[in-house]
Parts: sequence; structure tokens; C-alpha cells
Amino acid sequence: MTRKILLVRLSSIGDVLLATPLLRVIKARHPDARITFVTKTAMLPLLEHNPRIDELIGYDPVRPIRPLARYLARGGFTDRLDLHGSLRTQMLRWLVPGRWHSYPKHHAARSLLIRTKRNWYRDTRPVPERYFDAARDLDVTPDGKPLEMFIGREAMDDAVRRLREEGIGQGRALVALAPGAQHATKRWPARQWQILAATLTEQGTDVVVLGGPAESTLGADIATAAGDRAMSVAGLVGLGVSAALLKLARCAVTGDTGLMHLATAVSTPVVALFGPTVQSFGFFPYRARATVLERNLPCRPCSAMGGPVCPLGHHRCLTDITTDQVFDAVRRLPR
Ligand code: SF4
Repeated sequence: MTRKILLVRLSSIGDVLLATPLLRVIKARHPDARITFVTKTAMLPLLEHNPRIDELIGYDPVRPIRPLARYLARGGFTDRLDLHGSLRTQMLRWLVPGRWHSYPKHHAARSLLIRTKRNWYRDTRPVPERYFDAARDLDVTPDGKPLEMFIGREAMDDAVRRLREEGIGQGRALVALAPGAQHATKRWPARQWQILAATLTEQGTDVVVLGGPAESTLGADIATAAGDRAMSVAGLVGLGVSAALLKLARCAVTGDTGLMHLATAVSTPVVALFGPTVQSFGFFPYRARATVLERNLPCRPCSAMGGPVCPLGHHRCLTDITTDQVFDAVRRLPR
């Protein structure tokens, strides 16, 4: 009997990409299986060219979930993997009958680590490997390879065209900067991004700033500070073109964000700045050429996903990371 395997991970950018090693291994172990992946519509560009997936379904969260559930209930799936574990996927599991498997999110260990600063994690695996617990019936183990994202030709052509039109990255190395993060405490200060961008361009590197609409002003300010060897596409391009620009870059500098995982998924080396979050949460760059910069402060970690303000008011976990240190890490990254 052909296996029909359903995987559900609705968001966010990093969490969806962290599922790609599992997808790769399942397809290699069960080449005849039909794999269906459900994610939010906004996440589709991350997976639309992934050859491990036979059916990719986008879910628009403003619409009711019942039509999707009815469709999936008729799918005859032999294996159902919930890689999200949210209220919404709980509802989906309830509406799509059959046995579902999930993975450990370690909420208790995470809360205790934040509250007591003692590490209660017994499971030291990164999240891409924790996902394998949801596939326990599929006889699969991690293959030791990184995340992956397959870039479409259109997105790559668009990225190349934008760089050419601005004269950026033409005969000079390109560094991608991703200054944004959903929560303020995960963001390195804007002034430090500006100084880094200016230093990079002075030292012979071109810069492209990436991000979503929320970073459009910040991105423009950083590019302006760096002069005419820098451009910002923050808020102007989607995930596909962002991935292509990352692929064209010699390296990327990011916070603990989805674009960090996107860079690793296209094999671009990363300098990642970690502030209020720590490695035990499982989201360090996975099997990638990467340098993580972090400060050893007794207040870390103070939250699971960052927050609106530093509870201590100083935000030293990120402000103490200097532009010189980041520039030096960029310079030392393996090519
Ligand atoms: S400095 Fe400490 S308390 Fe403030 S945001 Fe960073 S980790 Fe949290």
C-alpha cells in the first residue's frame, strides 16, 4: 500500500524551514510515498519548489478551517504529523480523524529555564531533530544535512535584475543584512546596523538589506547610512526573492529570526546575533556555516520569543555586541 503522509506546520518562516530535513529524509526512506504539506498561504514560497512534496496546501488563517479539514479528512492519509502543536492544529486534528503524532515542545523546561536560569532541558536536540519524534512510525533518523530551500527561476531572475539595476554586488562581494525581528528585544539597535553597513561598504563589500514591510524604514535608513554601495529591499520583495538575494550573498548577518534560517537553507554562511534567547530552545543555525554572537549574561534567557522591552531596561544582551565584533565575524566566516 502506498503511504500517504500529511505534515502540518502553519508558520513561521523558521519553523517551516526547520521541517525540511524531515521532509528530505521521509522522501528518501519512502520514495513512493505521497507527501502532503499544509502551511499558511504566506509561507508557500518557502516550499513551492521543494521536490520532496507532492501536494502543497496553503491555509489562509482568516478563513474557517473546516473546509480544509473536510478536504484532508477525505485524503486517506496513512500518517498524520502535527509539527505545530497550536490550538489551530489541535482543532484540525479533532476534525480530521485518525491517529496523529506530534513532537515535544518542552514548554515546562523552557519556562523553568527562563524563570530560574537553570537548564532543565534533558532533550538537547535542535528543533529539526525534535520534529523526527512526530515521524516515529516512519523509521527515519536525521541525515546530518542542513535545512533546504529550492529557489524558483523567476525569483532568482528578479533578484539578479534588482542588484544589476542598482549596481550592487557587481564585481564586489555582497553581504545581506536582516535587521528585523518581530519582537523588539531580539533586535540589534538600528544605529549599530547602520555603522556595520557603513563599515562593510567602506571595506569593499556591497550591502543588501532584507526584511518585511515592518522593516522598510529601518532598511532604508541602514542603506542610506552605507551610501551608494548599499540598497534595501525590505518590504519590497517576498520570501522567494529574499531567498535568492541571500543565495547571491557571500554571507548574511541576522538576529535570531526566520531570515537566519532562510540563509542557512540556501547554504549562505551566517553571523547570528542572539540576545534574550539561548541554544537550549533549539533554534541555533542548524548544520550550517555559522557564527553565533551572544553575551554571557545572568539574565539570559528572559523570554522564549523576545518581548517589547528589556525587563531590566538596558538590553545589554544585544547592545553589548559591538559592530567591530560583528564585522570581524563576517570577515572570518568560511566561504
Ligand atoms: S538584557 Fe537580559 S533581561 Fe534584557 S532583554 Fe536581554 S536577556 Fe532579557
